[in-house]
Amino acid sequence: MEMEKQARQRYSRQVMFHGIGEKGQEKLERSSIVIVGCGALGSNAANLLVRAGVGKVRIVDRDFVEYHNLQRQVLFDENDVKEQLPKAIAAKRRLNAINSLIEVEAIVADINVSNMERFCSGVDVILDGLDNLETRYLVNDAALKLGIPYVYGGAISSFGMTMTIIPGRTPCFRCVFPDMLPGGAMPTCETDGVLGTAAAAISSFEATEAIKIMVGSDKLNKDLISLDIWDGSFQRLPITRKEGCPACNGNYEFLKNKKTLLKSSLCGQSRAVQIVDTASGEIVFKQLAARLTDVQNLTHNEYMLSFDADNCHITVFQDGRAIIRNTLDEKQAEKLYYRYVRGH
Ligand SMILES: [Zn+2]
Repeated sequence: MEMEKQARQRYSRQVMFHGIGEKGQEKLERSSIVIVGCGALGSNAANLLVRAGVGKVRIVDRDFVEYHNLQRQVLFDENDVKEQLPKAIAAKRRLNAINSLIEVEAIVADINVSNMERFCSGVDVILDGLDNLETRYLVNDAALKLGIPYVYGGAISSFGMTMTIIPGRTPCFRCVFPDMLPGGAMPTCETDGVLGTAAAAISSFEATEAIKIMVGSDKLNKDLISLDIWDGSFQRLPITRKEGCPACNGNYEFLKNKKTLLKSSLCGQSRAVQIVDTASGEIVFKQLAARLTDVQNLTHNEYMLSFDADNCHITVFQDGRAIIRNTLDEKQAEKLYYRYVRGH
């Protein structure tokens, strides 16, 4: 009873809003969402949605908190950097403190073809907090296959875009962006930077769309919204379904990629390559630490182990994934990964 009273007070200002009301609030409390990527977009959206009372929030992120994140990633603080916490874990801790009525699930993992469908299963909405295009095509395929609404959002520099994808009803991400540009052709927050205000604006649109989907509003965004927060400009671009779009026709090409060794350069991290070997198992940090006798600055906590070797800084996660910093050479990163992390 106490809990109910607390909840009623907590959400009172939002319940007064005509678009939500008592019924809408109850729907929110019964709803669930997965936030894929917990950087600037993901952490701002998670903050808004947990405060709004969305019942279950699952957060998936592969990275850990660093000082250069604090300018825009609102869930994190200096202690998270000092404790070397993964973003998903730090986000859960903060979100639990903000609203203890919400079930927050933290998953520290790279989102890839091997786990995409599992991470998105059983939720009402998928919200985009990603920093790269490849994963967005994968999320789009999974959303259409599973029939789950997907709210796309992206921000770079002072600019951002968002659209809402309702499987079977609206254009999908691939209808609007049919071709994946080759790596390096797109600006990233590493090359062009990103304003915290631009990310906050776009993620506010994303969170609002997610809320509208959950309460069953008929006012969903039907366009591609783009804005430039520095210029103060805002546009709505009409979008249409593309004839022959593979994803809309049930051909989920990005979910068929059977490669087990995945290599990618990371956005927002200077000179870093991530290696994921989905065929190899989990890492036991104690065993790995005992084997690594010829490396420098070896440390580990519950979530990650890091060390320096061959002029690179290597961070290993429990799921067997590693981020190799101070290199852009994927071949070299792969060699270091197998030599140190896998021991062969
Ligand atoms: Zn499509």
